[in-house]
Amino acid sequence: MNYPLTGIIVAMQEELEVILQSLDKEKTVDRAGMQFHVGHYAGRPVVAVICGIGKVNAALCTQIMISEFKTEQIINLGVAGGLGADIKPGDIVISDSLVQHDMDVSVFDLPKGQIPRLDVFDFKADPKMLQAAISASEQITEHNHFVGRIVTGDQFVASPEGAKALHEDFNALACEMEGASIAHVCHVNHIPFVCIRSISDNANSGAHMDFAQFTPIAVANASVLLQNMIPLCDATPPAHA
Ligand code: SAH
Repeated sequence: MNYPLTGIIVAMQEELEVILQSLDKEKTVDRAGMQFHVGHYAGRPVVAVICGIGKVNAALCTQIMISEFKTEQIINLGVAGGLGADIKPGDIVISDSLVQHDMDVSVFDLPKGQIPRLDVFDFKADPKMLQAAISASEQITEHNHFVGRIVTGDQFVASPEGAKALHEDFNALACEMEGASIAHVCHVNHIPFVCIRSISDNANSGAHMDFAQFTPIAVANASVLLQNMIPLCDATPPAHA
């Protein structure tokens, strides 16, 4: 069987380390200061990379993934701040849609988050990849899984007011700093995409301390989901075919 080539994008070294433990690496290619690890993961061809933190890093990395490595589907994996009372560190949020919460052209009567002159408000996850992530999550019972909106901006959210506003204004379950930017690049290139985030903190006043404590647990949880999920993504048709 001809498996689709999957791009795996994370923001930080600690998020990649656990993936690299199970990656059967063939080569590493340097581009724009990033190392693209080419190989097999869970028996499927993948390219895995650390894009760095924030939307610009994430966007330029994603375009390289697509243009140069010809990845046919992309998974963004990492940690995030949980929004709302139900979501606890270690839980997983699977994106059904993503919005850039720091895009604000509301003075021209656009809703906050709307990118001017773009055909969509939010970036929807690919339905088949979303289903693969949900099915994979159902095999894990140690922590809770949620499906919903993830919001992205160039800020580490660390206040109860900030977290509440994102939860209420965008109906979001998690906030982070890369996902919607990767989704944006995938959208304009017609590449199937899903974002899976494991909760490291609750985006409140203790967020920076929780982040340090819970990131290792959150990263481990996300990588178990990835292992289960990758083989379920085979059914997604290659966009470059
Ligand atoms: N000093 C830290 C900065 C981490 S930024 C360091 O360099 O290690 C936080 C990272 O985790 C980003 O990649 C972001 O996507 C995610 N994240 C986790 N919790 C977050 C929160 N509360 N707000 C925004 N991003 C968060």
